[in-house]
Amino acid sequence: MAEHESLEFGKADFVLLDNVSLEEFLANLKLRFEKGRIYSYIGEVVVSVNPYRAMNIYGRDTIEQYKGRELYERPPHLFAIADAAYKAMKRRNKDTCIVISGESGAGKTEASKYIMQYIAAITNPSQRAEVERVKNMLLKSNCVLEAFGNAKTNRNDNSSRFGKYMDINFDFKGDPIGGHINNYLLEKVGRVVHAREEQRMQGDESLLRSLHIQKDPTAYSYIKVGVTKTSVAMFFLSSLIYEEHCVLLQGNLKFGNDGDVTLIENSKLVAVLGELLSTKEENVEKALLYRTVATGRDVIDKQHTDQEASYGRDALAKAIYERLFCWIVGRINDIIEVKNYDARIHGKNTVIGVLDIYGFEIFQNNSFEQFCINYCNEKLQQLFIQLVLKQEQEEYQREGIPWKHIDYFNNQIIVDLVELQHKGIFSVLDEACMNVGKVTDEMFLQALNSKLAKHAHYTSRKLSPTDKSLEFDRDFRIRHYAGDVVYSVLGFIDKNKDTLFQDFKRLLYNSSNPVLKAMWPEGKLSITEVTKRPLTAATLFKNSMISLVENLASKEPYYVRCIKPNDVKSPLLFEYERCKHQVEYLGLLENVRVRRAGFANRQTYPRFLQRYKMISEFTWPNHDLPSDREAVKRLLQGCGFEHDVAYGKTKVFIRTPRTIFSLEEQRAEM
Ligand code: ATP
Ligand code: MG
Repeated sequence: MAEHESLEFGKADFVLLDNVSLEEFLANLKLRFEKGRIYSYIGEVVVSVNPYRAMNIYGRDTIEQYKGRELYERPPHLFAIADAAYKAMKRRNKDTCIVISGESGAGKTEASKYIMQYIAAITNPSQRAEVERVKNMLLKSNCVLEAFGNAKTNRNDNSSRFGKYMDINFDFKGDPIGGHINNYLLEKVGRVVHAREEQRMQGDESLLRSLHIQKDPTAYSYIKVGVTKTSVAMFFLSSLIYEEHCVLLQGNLKFGNDGDVTLIENSKLVAVLGELLSTKEENVEKALLYRTVATGRDVIDKQHTDQEASYGRDALAKAIYERLFCWIVGRINDIIEVKNYDARIHGKNTVIGVLDIYGFEIFQNNSFEQFCINYCNEKLQQLFIQLVLKQEQEEYQREGIPWKHIDYFNNQIIVDLVELQHKGIFSVLDEACMNVGKVTDEMFLQALNSKLAKHAHYTSRKLSPTDKSLEFDRDFRIRHYAGDVVYSVLGFIDKNKDTLFQDFKRLLYNSSNPVLKAMWPEGKLSITEVTKRPLTAATLFKNSMISLVENLASKEPYYVRCIKPNDVKSPLLFEYERCKHQVEYLGLLENVRVRRAGFANRQTYPRFLQRYKMISEFTWPNHDLPSDREAVKRLLQGCGFEHDVAYGKTKVFIRTPRTIFSLEEQRAEM
């Protein structure tokens, strides 16, 4: 255990608490927070509390203190877990991943950046130029993605509106040789069409002028994409500003109605849009006002109503933004992918993955995006339960180690409520969207109510008529693992269908800007060739979450659990109730219990012998005992560790890390 810290800072590892109770846990967490100790452990899990102030604990000197050391040798830190993941990867040839979870504003993105910085700092001691280039790109890519993908919300000034999973590939020397980024559901709606907060436009005057950018952000109706930080990204990707700005300008387009005919009120803008999209003004106008429809054999131009035109405009803005974002991720991936053919195919190539995703969130108004984000957090909680609470206990039973089961809330029931085929909310939504004719959000809500009436984690006003927190024809509520969230169904159908008129795809495919054109390959099809219904947003999201979780589960996981101490971004305030709630729903207490009753380390007998047989005369160079199990027993008895271990059917279990530590030391002395 971490023994190097004075007790004045509380217990560095929650496993050392005298009594495992919520009160003691919180008292320790609070004490540590107040003493500026923002990190603690539960075994190998890092618990982090957002300090909301600059901490002097990430510099070169601190990095040196953690480099190559064992987890328990130093005070708890992100660097220690980054080092542990790195060592597992290097020593044992394991793919590992670091999963960072916690609600919005708890400090996930900051943590992921420190972890990346640490890994960059400790690798490539020989300063190979190619490796330096890769490291540099990995670190810089973040800046570009944040500029385009983060936004200010009520909960976090720099909130991730996209999830990011980044693999770093290492060669046999343990140096980074490449990487790959997966991004998950960019919240296009919140980000583009109803952007919540203002940000100032900055940048080179002449560039702004040439792009028709107004310095005053109130000049745009879809408020204010982050052009402030975008100026950083400009160095890399200046051409893209055209499109991000184009997205902004579109928001200003207004449609009117002259009797039967829909008109663009401020048609001057159309020319600017044509210029920015490298296409003809009249084509832009036509795509905004008409759609081509196939009726039997005929193809006709049907005029939009002004609502349809507004819908189309917003859908186009969102789609350009989304494709632009994916395009950026794609270009970054081209730059950082493992280049050397030999390294990719023949060399040892192991991976550390870092997951930083949008945290659980509850707003005043929660819609489809919050629903997806919160479902994602349910999935990650489920993974934690599976790996840390469930499998751990099952393994003791399987191995015949005496074990008293420790209970925990299993959120699989909520995951099922959302994702189960035919029964889950996503399926009900997809079915509603599949219906021909006009399906409204209210009809979707009715379908939910009739299918889910009995579900313990689902309520609506219809099912609970006296419940004032719900509106009758609009809301439903999910009891999530992290709390109750009321969702408004308004917009679910449109957002799930996520349709963009084929006319817009064609418009952009025909752009003379090759980058834009390449983003819209389906624009090549004419209306009669478009037959396949695209997958819905919900299905795409669900599939991407399932494969994310599969990917994480295939690696050796390390966890960072982030806690947000207060809602006012104060460095001083430890809001007891808020913290208590997070400790509860993150399952940290159960984590401590399992860990305390359990064993820090386990290895199969042959593997254990392979690593440590040289430290005992009974086992070196070979043993003549009836089994490896007996040999391990003899070895551990000889070292005086008998009290700290248990012998399972196939594995030896070691209770405290100190024992492993000491074995490692003896091995090193040989
Ligand atoms: P979201 O889910 O909304 O993306 P998040 O968990 O990624 O939230 P961050 O953006 O990492 O949250 O953190 C929010 C803010 O808290 C940061 O902008 C920073 O001001 C502060 N913060 C977080 N971690 C630290 C830290 N280790 N040191 C100093 N400040 C921090
Ligand atoms: Mg974030």
